Amino acid sequence: MTETPLIKIEKLQVEFPLGRTLFGKPLKLRAVNNVSLEIMSGQFFGLVGESGSGKTTLGRAILRAAPLSSGKINFDDGDVRYDVGSISKSDLKNYRKLAQLIFQDPYAALSPRMTVRDIIAEPLEVMGLTKTREETDKLVREIAAKCRLNLEHLRRFPHAFSGGQRQRISIARTLVCSPDFVVADESVAALDVSIQADILNLLKSLQKELGLTYLFISHDLSVVAHICDHVAVMYLGTLVESAPTSDLFTNPRHPYTRALLSAIPSLNPDDRGHAQKLEGEIPSPANPPSGCTFHTRCPMAKDICRTEIPQWRKLNDKHSVSCHFSEDLPKT
Ligand code: SF4
Repeated sequence: MTETPLIKIEKLQVEFPLGRTLFGKPLKLRAVNNVSLEIMSGQFFGLVGESGSGKTTLGRAILRAAPLSSGKINFDDGDVRYDVGSISKSDLKNYRKLAQLIFQDPYAALSPRMTVRDIIAEPLEVMGLTKTREETDKLVREIAAKCRLNLEHLRRFPHAFSGGQRQRISIARTLVCSPDFVVADESVAALDVSIQADILNLLKSLQKELGLTYLFISHDLSVVAHICDHVAVMYLGTLVESAPTSDLFTNPRHPYTRALLSAIPSLNPDDRGHAQKLEGEIPSPANPPSGCTFHTRCPMAKDICRTEIPQWRKLNDKHSVSCHFSEDLPKT
């Protein structure tokens, strides 16, 4: 990992129109609200939070698959630099080659009518990255081998494979265009636990071999602890904490992060029963609470939390948080 940001996000907002009120006022759902972060080149960056926290929308916005309402996303791999929000059509084609997505569900992501060879070759053909069938086949064979698929697998159809093998096919299709940056959105959530470890190890070894940078989106903190260098926590469209993985897990400074961490199942019987239960559901992003959006569920909430939005501030060089009282939290 380097200290050079590959992706730099500043004050990003992503909103979706929801129609109008009775009085004609436009209604909007703010899925991502004022998010700033940096993903370093070669980093395994984890993004966690409950369903509806905006993680997937943030990942899609970086890939330019969700509209940016305001703010900036810069991509800079040393050779090319893109302002993703105002990228031209011709640059977008090149950007799509450099920034790719691994789909969540390996069963739904692969066409049952195409052979594995054709599935992996499809991005090369759609983007016109190869000139001859021989050239395409060579790249398909190379990435299939890296993803631990046999050459004989390339002639078969997806239904002949297990969930883990399908995810390896899906990963090979993502990586065949040699991207720099990959969004892995809940990429192991649909797999059995025994297969998850195999796919996580594959992602990690491919990172080293191909020099990849990942945004790893997950609701599973034990998986994130195992694989990520740095973790950011989202709640209701905003970032609430961001820190190197070991720092976040040993010294969480936001009540929401603490609640998520305390809910991780433990094998130690003495640790059981200490889960800090979060009361209530995550509020609607169409009508978020005032002040700190977590105040409706926060066990530490005080009057100021209901009216004043906490600032995003640095606790040290790499650990940032948005809570009025993070210094007052008891030691873990
Ligand atoms: Fe809880 Fe207040 Fe901190 Fe928000 S600002 S997390 S409500 S203590």
